[in-house]
Amino acid sequence: MASKSKDQPKQKSKKTIKKVVIANRGEIALRVLRACKEMGLKTVAVYSTADRDLKHVLLADEAVCIGPAASTDSYLNIPAIISVLEITDADAVHPGYGFLSERADFAEQVESSGFIFIGPKPETIKLLGDKISAKKCMQAAGVPIVPGSDGPIGMDDKENQKLAKTVGYPIMIKASGGGGGRGMRVVHNEAALLNAISMTRKEAKAAFGNDTIYMEKFLENPRHIEFQILADEHGNVIHLGERDCSIQRRHQKIIEEAPAVGITDKQRKRIGEKCVKACKQLGYRGVGTFEFLYQDGEFYFIEINTRLQVEHPVTEFITGLDLVKAQIQIAMGEPLKINQDDVKFRGHAIECRINAEDPQNFTPCPGVIKDYHAPGGLGVRVDSHIYAGYKVPPQYDSMIGKIITHAEDREHAIARMRTALDETIITGIKTNIPLHKKILDAGKFQLGGVSIHYLEKKLKEEARS
Ligand code: ADP
Repeated sequence: MASKSKDQPKQKSKKTIKKVVIANRGEIALRVLRACKEMGLKTVAVYSTADRDLKHVLLADEAVCIGPAASTDSYLNIPAIISVLEITDADAVHPGYGFLSERADFAEQVESSGFIFIGPKPETIKLLGDKISAKKCMQAAGVPIVPGSDGPIGMDDKENQKLAKTVGYPIMIKASGGGGGRGMRVVHNEAALLNAISMTRKEAKAAFGNDTIYMEKFLENPRHIEFQILADEHGNVIHLGERDCSIQRRHQKIIEEAPAVGITDKQRKRIGEKCVKACKQLGYRGVGTFEFLYQDGEFYFIEINTRLQVEHPVTEFITGLDLVKAQIQIAMGEPLKINQDDVKFRGHAIECRINAEDPQNFTPCPGVIKDYHAPGGLGVRVDSHIYAGYKVPPQYDSMIGKIITHAEDREHAIARMRTALDETIITGIKTNIPLHKKILDAGKFQLGGVSIHYLEKKLKEEARS
């Protein structure tokens, strides 16, 4: 099959996007499809044999089956996706989040085959995908980082014990190649240190094919606050403020909101500007998220995600911007249409991730959705691919959609979310909607500013009583 680069001059094809392959599934594939349609672009869905009935597959201009249900054979199958770009004569690929979205080798192969990767440059993904090198870059750019080892830790037990003492217990051992909340371990005292190091190293090797690990101070009561960045390839960079993603279970986000309670305009400006400066120094292109832990009034960088985030709609609600369209425009080589002063924040937005899982014990609950009624009304957005009769397959992530509400302030956004959750009907499978209702009803959540440990502590207390 002829590669596109042989038929067309690379630079010219680089700027023209008429047809987009959506290399993902579920709600995010539908989100990207909607943006493409609004921009008048043709769409190609790729799907596994378990996903023939996905909503965006039915709505796309073209759809190509790329393999069996196991994602290693389909959504992670790079040659299959490059072939789809070729046979459908597409121009670009949008990776969504998860799957191949942060794989530098994928972005590199897409570009070397003459197609456009809607995302940062492959070398940026590679540099920032490694948590140690990302931290080093940020430190060099003046972004505050979590104190810890200066790079990877070695095999010398004595050295590591000394280092841990200097950092100060409790500490965290983290995999440089880690992600998805995996590859990290808390160590409370010296007796547990060496075993934790060797366990994390082994796990990192098995899970990420990279046994490089490092040490970080374990912050005991932080909030997770992240900054959204938008950068074009002409050196224009802006930030779109922050999101608070502290409602987590097993390091996985469940509820996100923007803006973050208690963060002042001054703090937002200070940290936002540092992120912008770092992006400028790196020649960053596309959307990106700087993740911080926030404790006692200080921000500590933990990692950067070089892709669209699940929780991007809360930022879209408060800024009125379409981040997926912006991604595509940036990939077309267009300059940003706005500058920092044009970014205005309006009201408050909250997102609840709806998972097909048992709300008591969190086990996934795939199966056929019998009845489905989505919520609606002013300031309510539903990003979901499900419909009555849709079968949630067991092979993938249990998230089946997101409900996002927006109102003039946090109190009203919460009230709107409670109404939306009450309205939602999903039968046939279990969902975590009862858990969301419980969190929204809790006085501490309503006050705002809870730490990343809040939800797990609350669940433990309830299990005891
Ligand atoms: P991943 O790439 O797997 O998402 P992160 O480094 O972003 O990993 O961390 C995920 C979550 O783990 C954070 O949101 C936070 O809850 C917790 N975490 C990570 N580093 C620390 C730390 N140094 N101290 C306390 N909690 C941490």
